[in-house]
Amino acid sequence: MSKTICLLPGDGIGTEIVAQGRKALEAAAKRSGKELVFTEALIGGAAYDATGNPLPAQTVAACRAADAVFLGAVGGPKWDSLPPEKRPEKGILGIRKELGLFANLRPALLLPELAGACLLKPETAQKGLDLIVVRELTGDIYFGQPRGIEERNGVRTGYNTMLYSEEEIRRIARVGFETAMKRKKCVCSIDKSNVLETSRLWREIVSDVAKSYPEVELSHMYVDNAAMQLVRDPSQFDVLLTGNLFGDILSDEAAAITGSLGMLPSASMGSTAPALFEPIHGSAPDIAGQDKANPLATILSAAMLLRLGLDMPEEAACIEQAVSRALKDYRTADIMEEGKTLVGCERMGDIVAGYILG
Ligand code: NAD
Repeated sequence: MSKTICLLPGDGIGTEIVAQGRKALEAAAKRSGKELVFTEALIGGAAYDATGNPLPAQTVAACRAADAVFLGAVGGPKWDSLPPEKRPEKGILGIRKELGLFANLRPALLLPELAGACLLKPETAQKGLDLIVVRELTGDIYFGQPRGIEERNGVRTGYNTMLYSEEEIRRIARVGFETAMKRKKCVCSIDKSNVLETSRLWREIVSDVAKSYPEVELSHMYVDNAAMQLVRDPSQFDVLLTGNLFGDILSDEAAAITGSLGMLPSASMGSTAPALFEPIHGSAPDIAGQDKANPLATILSAAMLLRLGLDMPEEAACIEQAVSRALKDYRTADIMEEGKTLVGCERMGDIVAGYILG
């Protein structure tokens, strides 16, 4: 049976990189004799220009009708002066909300070919870095009520509420364990349960969910220690399961230490399909339309789409292997090193697609 992927190229380099991601998806499907059907819709500034709305109803409908959504990036100086509700970013926040995407998955993978870009000590980098942060996206101190700034005893005072219900913890924990089942079967749950009641409930519920996944090894770590361990020895981690606040910080830390923005994919998932897959970088208006963008974060997002969105793990691995192979000889400008051949966005896409097929 064929699967449908809705493409949302967006703005800036979005159209260039999504075209390369599509090539990789088509090559992987062709190689294994499976059929993928593509639809396409407008989002962000491109959607605003065409319809006056960064997230038109037709786009939401096209996403809902698909098995997975594949996004480039949105935004650019052209739309910076628009009122908040018309801005391109509203398109992304809106589609996450419409699709109920409560889990953000961000792998941080250091390919041996790019060890030179890694910010860690060479002996630490050598041990490898292949982890994924599973971060809750819709709760925690970012959304908890009450919140505000008010005068208390004559002093202006700001406050927020860290809040997680048992059900919210349970559903993100399940995503964490399901993710681990497709990897090395280790979950490290991050909390601050020595200080926070929310974290004590978090730890209790995560431990309870773990009983349904006897094959997965569960450990717990305080967030301050996790931040340190990520720099000291990231090779110890497989899945890092976190709430919204701790995940925000740790996922950026994990991404930063790999050293290359143009290489990092992500997924946002809900309880039901479709999930949404996108590179973590933005629309890079400074290089848009110049065939200079690195398409590999998008191509690796395509691999995530196949593995997590369409349950096609072999095809996903095929894309990842092709990316590693391409990096041995070819580089886009952002990750260029001596001795490699400099290529543009489209050529890199063609090289990866060729390796997938061959
Ligand atoms: P950015 O990630 O677009 O760019 C930061 C720097 O990294 C730029 O110098 C850019 O050229 C470079 N870069 C990014 N991706 C690259 C790639 N694939 N290959 C080579 N170089 C790459 O971040 P920014 O400049 O802060 O934001 C630009 C626009 O993107 C803004 O409008 C912002 O709101 C938007 N944005 C969108 C998303 C998204 O769509 N999810 C995420 C972040 C930023």
